[in-house]
Amino acid sequence: MSDFKDKSVLVLGGSRGIGAAIVRRFKNEGANVTFTFAGSPEAAEELATETGSTAVFTDSGDRDALIATVRNQGPLDVLVVNAGIAVVGDPLEQDPDEIDRLFRVNMHAPYHAAVEAARQMPEGGRIIVIGSVNGDRMPIAGLASYALSKSALQGLARGLARDLGPRGITVNIVQPGPINTDLNPEDGPMKEMMHSFLAIKRHGRPEEVAGMVAWLSGPEAGFVTGAMHTIDGAFGA
Ligand code: NDP
Repeated sequence: MSDFKDKSVLVLGGSRGIGAAIVRRFKNEGANVTFTFAGSPEAAEELATETGSTAVFTDSGDRDALIATVRNQGPLDVLVVNAGIAVVGDPLEQDPDEIDRLFRVNMHAPYHAAVEAARQMPEGGRIIVIGSVNGDRMPIAGLASYALSKSALQGLARGLARDLGPRGITVNIVQPGPINTDLNPEDGPMKEMMHSFLAIKRHGRPEEVAGMVAWLSGPEAGFVTGAMHTIDGAFGA
């Protein structure tokens, strides 16, 4: 028995980390899953082979390509926008083009993908974007652009929930704290500092985030929309 048997799921940015865990979770529950990748074709191919999902090259920083990929999937039961990047450093020294690319991937892509998916999405559809606890709390320097992009997703969920609510479509943001991935490895140099903010003294696991995404995508969450769902070991508490 599965809530997702034969459901159509698109995960934007699914080749590695949290996205790959989300792909595995939906495949294990019988969904038809397509995911996008950009910089990691080998990881994408391996995951597609392992899970029987479909990998499609689409750079989330390329708006028109992204919209075309979403449109080409046809009616989606679930859209998960996971692709995200961080640019760390002194904002006075950073290349503005690099920062604009971060805004395109982390902020513009979720908006355009969600709107495009909504055109064909059936009643009861689900749109979930992976934000960050840094949308609420930014306790370290060097990540202002990242924090801005993740805070902006809160407005996306609140606004789009109003537009799509009459069709029974929900829009939610999942806000992880430190999760053990290539982006934030548990054995990295930031470990002690990261863990000092936590009540649960470890990084979270990608599968734990995937579990929250699955619940939000299922029938029990039909009244949950326009909301932020933090999974962070109390990083933001
Ligand atoms: P990883 O760097 O481990 O993986 C990022 C994934 O996003 C990869 O599959 C990557 O694919 C994809 N991606 C990145 N840029 C693009 C792009 N331009 N086009 C298409 N796909 C892209 O990151 P995480 O798994 O850790 O993070 C996933 C999400 O969770 C992000 O939005 C991140 O901000 C958020 N998050 C992560 C936290 C953490 O501690 N790990 C904490 C809070 C939030 P490819 O390599 O093929 O380009």
